[in-house]
Amino acid sequence: MTALRALCVYCAASQRANPRYRETAALLGRRAAEQGIEIVYGGGQVGLMGALADGALDAGGRVTGVIPEHLMSKELGHRHVSELVVVDSMHARKLRMFELSDAFAILPGGLGTLDETFEILTWRQLGLHDKPIVLLDDNGYWRPLLDLIEHQVKENFVRPEHAGALHVAKDIDELFALLETLPGGAEDGKTERF
Ligand code: AMP
Repeated sequence: MTALRALCVYCAASQRANPRYRETAALLGRRAAEQGIEIVYGGGQVGLMGALADGALDAGGRVTGVIPEHLMSKELGHRHVSELVVVDSMHARKLRMFELSDAFAILPGGLGTLDETFEILTWRQLGLHDKPIVLLDDNGYWRPLLDLIEHQVKENFVRPEHAGALHVAKDIDELFALLETLPGGAEDGKTERF
């Protein structure tokens, strides 16, 4: 069992994406539950967020949702999570999710997921934390984003070591393997970087 206690997952609220992404989210939730890892997420019942929470809860896992009051109706605050933390703003949500978690996983998502990803990545770039960040490139969904970041490095707008803080997993096995070996995870080992 990994030493990882709580994993923050950023993912889509969209209900319209290919169902395969929901399956991945549910599997991630289940696998976390099986390893005794708590899921921290945006607290919604819709899209990949809902699938993630249900996957973990159905497997007996602990799930903490963090949702701003004004999104309770829009994203349908999940009624069955272990704990639902209701905050007063988007900024408070992101901070609370950060505080409650030891590492971050990014599943396919839209603009909100990008916002959350880049906030946590830039906080790390600024030395505000050293928690592991792993992007799950399910179905090659994030390839264009990874190409853009590579381009930013090539053009000297991003330092390679800062881009390297965004680790990439191609599937859920690799995601958990990375989380076990990255500093802050179970072992302080070396892993493949961006
Ligand atoms: P999306 O990836 O757009 O489907 O959004 C995923 C999650 O990110 C949803 O819970 C959104 O409410 C949330 N989100 C969207 N914009 C922001 C933001 N600026 N700050 C924090 N969370 C956001």
